[in-house]
Amino acid sequence: MIDTHCHLDVDRFDGDRHAVIARAAKAGVLDIVVPAVDEASWDVIAELATATRTPRVHATAGIHPLVVPDLDPSDDEKVLARLEARATRGGIVAIGECGLDDTIDMARAPYPRQEALLRGQFAIAARHGLPLILHARGRGAYARLVEFLDTCALPPASAVLHSYGGGIDLLKRFSEHRLYFGFAGPATYPNARKVRTSLLAVAEDRLLAETDAPDQTPEPHRPGRSEPSYLGAIIAAMAAARGKDVAELNQLTTANARRLFGLPA
Ligand SMILES: [Zn+2]
Repeated sequence: MIDTHCHLDVDRFDGDRHAVIARAAKAGVLDIVVPAVDEASWDVIAELATATRTPRVHATAGIHPLVVPDLDPSDDEKVLARLEARATRGGIVAIGECGLDDTIDMARAPYPRQEALLRGQFAIAARHGLPLILHARGRGAYARLVEFLDTCALPPASAVLHSYGGGIDLLKRFSEHRLYFGFAGPATYPNARKVRTSLLAVAEDRLLAETDAPDQTPEPHRPGRSEPSYLGAIIAAMAAARGKDVAELNQLTTANARRLFGLPA
């Protein structure tokens, strides 16, 4: 199993990170991709990746829309230049997480500003042969992101739209761009029929599993913090939704994650 989206660096893991990592290894998690949210996390995640042997931990670097309202707009170009420099140094498997969000302070981070930052991150990913980790939140943001993809091509290494919650019609539109879709805890929720309908419509070679820990805790571990050792519960729900064996889904999502992020077997 590969957890393609786990915020292992956040302070909610400060008290027991080693135990969390040990439980993930014991549960059969082979690799964890840790998406960066803000610039301060780039080095923290890279150090965590270097210091962790089992499971293998992989670093990324990017700017999440959630932090954009707190950044000075006149610094946006400089932040992108520093991200370019970070990508040049190497040791990261993706640019992200980045994307569009309409649940944030839209006065401080209107769509044109979010899109300019996103366009910059698409260009950096393309120049460095890296995939993107994409985030969308809010019904408007999903629709806006699919329109953005119509005008700004994905990098050759492609992208994952993580924790997909945009519904079936938009999924068909996103699928035209051949991106990957990540599914998290909501796949296990009894009332999340919309998520399972989407899950069923994703092409076999574009399906990924993730915990999005510490958020989006899967059943039967709710309420409380999520962690990468819960990934098996998500893969089991994905397998049930698609009428497949758990082992088959496990193998499939692992192969897809390796292909997207260029991870060794
Ligand atoms: Zn995330």
